This record gives sequence, structure tokens and C-alpha cells, in this order.
Amino acid sequence: MKALLIGEYKNGHIDESFYELVGFANKIGADSFGFAVAPLDVNIEYAGKVYIADISKAKEYNPKVHKNLILKLIEQENPDIVVFSHSSYGWDLAPRLAAALKVAQISEIIDVDNDEYIVPFCNAKLRRKVKPNTQKAVLTLQAGAFSPVKSNAAQIEPLDYIEQDDNLEFQGFEITEKTGVDLTKAEVIVSAGRGVGKKENIEIVRSLAKALKGELGASRPVVDAGWLDPSYQVGTTGQTVAPKLYIACGISGAIQHLAGMKKSNFIVAINKDKDAPIAEVADVFVVADLLEFVPVLTSKLTK
Ligand SMILES: Cc1cc2nc3c(=O)[nH]c(=O)nc-3n(C[C@H](O)[C@H](O)[C@H](O)COP(=O)(O)OP(=O)(O)OC[C@H]3O[C@@H](n4cnc5c(N)ncnc54)[C@H](O)[C@@H]3O)c2cc1C
Repeated sequence: MKALLIGEYKNGHIDESFYELVGFANKIGADSFGFAVAPLDVNIEYAGKVYIADISKAKEYNPKVHKNLILKLIEQENPDIVVFSHSSYGWDLAPRLAAALKVAQISEIIDVDNDEYIVPFCNAKLRRKVKPNTQKAVLTLQAGAFSPVKSNAAQIEPLDYIEQDDNLEFQGFEITEKTGVDLTKAEVIVSAGRGVGKKENIEIVRSLAKALKGELGASRPVVDAGWLDPSYQVGTTGQTVAPKLYIACGISGAIQHLAGMKKSNFIVAINKDKDAPIAEVADVFVVADLLEFVPVLTSKLTK
């Protein structure tokens, strides 16, 4: 199995998600090589060859140009799978590439089981195993699903830019203004999940956050239900945090939530289900009804 791993150059460096693609390739025992549109002197901590298309010509993003560069590389190297991160770059480019190659495309892979890929469905409530029905396939990997692997500096191989007619011109990225809470700098975060049951119970979790001089966070259903503002959301479509202490109250531990908090230094999870998947990443797992346990903990801490 030969895997082409697509890196993303952002904010002056290769995005960390590239190393998760390397972890995935290692896990499935693939021979891998990389590609990115980046400056030719970019530093990539990967033990292998990475083809680099000069970013000053191919620009940070242009779907047609980037797709054609990858197609050229596929022709040259003949990989079995092309692997993207499940990011806005991957969402946009992976289907275009699969359509051009007329091969299967599998999105949001969270694990592998022999030759089958595991992907979530039903809003990530369930998982299913899928297998491409074509020889080659284009894949996207969910952030945080595979452990990153880094090694020495990569062997950089310049990939010639292809001059082409194009009706798109890259204008640049606009950084969205941050509003609401910035959880990325918090040392303590206490997050509320769907297990709080109703909006009024958020206050129970907020009191614990306050007692620990920390910030309040949330899982996505809490935000979707309108119980808290989206800026509180932790996870792949929320903020990525790494506090000293993360307390998850009534959060099951879906991969999309874990991707945003599993780098926390110390994780406490409070859940009434002893089999909740969050136990896998928790340093301390409290099996309890949060509505009873959290007020007692808060009152003891306050004293
Ligand atoms: C494309 C996509 C992006 C997503 N992005 C994110 C994201 O950024 N962040 C995110 O969080 N999710 C995200 N999700 C949703 C994610 O898949 C899960 O659905 C979500 O994380 C589940 O939230 P939860 O754990 O609060 O709720 P649930 O999965 O419903 O879990 C609730 C937990 O509370 C426990 N519980 C219930 N009552 C109590 C009680 N009284 N005391 C103690 N425990 C109790 C239950 O046992 C259960 O484990 C995304 C999904 C998709 C498809």
C-alpha cells in the first residue's frame, strides 16, 4: 500500500494535522510520501520524501491549481490512497480529486479495522465500517483520530508548477474576529455536555468553573440547543484547548469533542454511565449523577 499524504501550509508552517496523516499511514503499514504547496525551504518533521510545489506560484489556495498538481504527482508516483485532513482544505479538494480520478472517496475516517475504514454517521452517534470499491481511494481523516508522528527533517523534492488557464484568483484569507470567550488561554476549563439536561443546569457547571477560577466550556449539543453561545464550544468545530485541568460534566466523549480537549494536562470526567467513552482519556473518571455530585464538589472547594 502506497499513501500520498497531503500537507497544508498555514501561518508560516506545515499544519500539525500532517503528522496525524503520518500516524495513520504508519498504523495501516503504508509506504508514504508527502505533498504540500509551501515555500521550498519549508521544515517538515517527517522521515521521507515530500514534494513541494512553490507557494509563490501555486498560491495558498486554488482548487484547480492544487488539484492538477496532485494529479500530476499521482501520475508520477501511482499511490493507492491519497490522504487529506478533514479540514476545509480536505473537504474542498478531496471530492474534486476523487471525481477527477473516478475513484471512491471516504470522508472523516476515525479509525481502521484491517482493510476497513471506520467513519461516524447519524451526526456521529453511530459508526460504520466502509471499504472503497475502487482500487485507489481518496480519504479524509478526522482531526485528533490518529496520533501524530514526527521525525527528522523531510527530504524535499520540488514539484514543477503547471501553467494553466484559470478563472480563479487567490485573494487571501480573512482572519475571523474572535468574539466571546477565548478558551485557548484558560488554565482550567469546566465543560457542560448534554448530560446537564436543561439550560438552567448550566449554572451548576458554571459555579464549579468559578470555584476553580476557571472558564466554562461546552460540547456541541449544548451550543446547538442554544444553552450557551458558540464561542464556548470545544471540539473540531469549536475551540482546541489544552488547559492544566479539564473537567467534562455529562459529556460522552465523541471523537469530535475529544479532538478539541484531549491534549489537556489532566482530565476529570463526571458521567453517570460507567461505559462512557470519555473514560478512555480521563485521568480521573467519576461515575455519578453530575446534578448531585457537582454541587457538593463546588461547595467543598468553596469552603
Ligand atoms: C461534523 C461534526 C462536527 C462536530 N463538532 C463537534 C465539536 O466541535 N464539539 C463537540 O462537542 N461535538 C461536536 N460534534 C458532535 C459530537 O459528535 C457529539 O454528538 C457531541 O460531542 C456529544 O455531546 P455530549 O457528549 O454533550 O452529548 P451526548 O453524546 O449525548 O452525551 C451525554 C453524556 O452525558 C451523560 N449524562 C446524562 N445525564 C447525566 C447526568 N445527570 N450526570 C452525569 N452524566 C450524565 C450520558 O451518560 C452521556 O455520556 C460534531 C459532530 C459532527 C458530525
